[in-house]
Amino acid sequence: MSSLRGRDVLSAFDFDREDLFRLFELAERLRGEISGRRVLDYARGKVMITAFFEPSTRTKISFQFAMTRLGGEVVDFIEEVSSIRKGETEEDTMKILDGYDPDVIVVRHSKPFFPHSVKDVVRAPIISGGDGTNEHPTQALLDVYTIWRELGRVDGIVIGILGDLKYGRTPPSLSYILTRFNDVTIYYIAPKQLQIRDEVLRKIEGRVRYHLVGSVEEVIEKLDVLYVTRIQKERFEDPREYERLKGSYIITRSMLEKYRKIPVIMHPLPRVDEIATDVDTLPQAKYFEQARNGVFIRAALLKEVLGV
Ligand code: ASP
Repeated sequence: MSSLRGRDVLSAFDFDREDLFRLFELAERLRGEISGRRVLDYARGKVMITAFFEPSTRTKISFQFAMTRLGGEVVDFIEEVSSIRKGETEEDTMKILDGYDPDVIVVRHSKPFFPHSVKDVVRAPIISGGDGTNEHPTQALLDVYTIWRELGRVDGIVIGILGDLKYGRTPPSLSYILTRFNDVTIYYIAPKQLQIRDEVLRKIEGRVRYHLVGSVEEVIEKLDVLYVTRIQKERFEDPREYERLKGSYIITRSMLEKYRKIPVIMHPLPRVDEIATDVDTLPQAKYFEQARNGVFIRAALLKEVLGV
C-alpha cells in the first residue's frame, strides 16, 4: 500500500525521498499506459473537485487531465459564479463541497496556508494547488520529476533559481523538495529586493548547500539546471516597486551563447518576458515539456492519494 493514500498534500515536505522515487516510476508507467489507451480505469467512480480561488492554467487543467485519464470524474468549482459573490465564506464553501463526498479536493488560494486552515473541516484529502506566496508542492514535484527525466538524477545537481524568489511560491517548494536529495547546491539568483525569504532558508539549513547571488552571469558556468521565474506582479503591495524591478533579469539566446551550455532550462510558467522566445527552440529549453510532465506526475499522485 502506498504511503500517500488518503493523505493531505500541503507542503513539498510532505514527500519523502522514497515517495518521490516511487512517484517518478509510477508517472513513467502511467505515461506509457495513457499514451497507449488514452483513458485508464484506475479511478473509475472516483470524483475530484478542483476549487481554485485564484487564476490557474497548468495546475488546474493538468490535474483535470490527470484525473480524466485515470478514468475518474472532475467537478470544477468556479469562484466567479459561486455564492462567494453572495458573501459566503470560503470555509463554508469548502464544507459544502466536501459534503458532496468527493474523493479528493485540489485547492488553490491567494492566502498563504488557506488549505491548512480548512483541512480539519474537510473530510476528503486536500492537495494544495498553491497557497499565496507560501508553497506550490505539486509544482515542485513536477520540477524534480523533470530534472530526474532530463539528467537521470537529482542527487548532486547544481541549480540556479532565478527571479522573484521573495513573492514566488515555486522557489520555496522547489527548495524544500530538493532537501530530499543528496549533495544538492542551490544558487538563489535575484536582485536584493527579490531575494529568497529567511524563513525558507531556515527550513533548508544544513540539508542543501546554498548561496545568494545577484546575477546569473556569476554562476552560469556551474549550473546543471537554470530555473527561471517571473516577477509576481499581483503580489506587490506597491505597483511602483514592480515597475522598478520588472525587466531586471532577462534570459536571451545571445546571452546564453556567450557561456558554457546550461544542460536544462526550466520555468514553472507563465512567462512574461524573463525568457526571450528565441530561447524556446534551444534543445535545453524544457519548460513546455516540464508543463506536460505535470499531467503524468499528478496522475501518479492522484492514484496514490486515492489508493487505486
Ligand atoms: N504557475 C506558478 C504558480 O502558480 C508560477 C507563477 O505563477 O509564476 O505559482
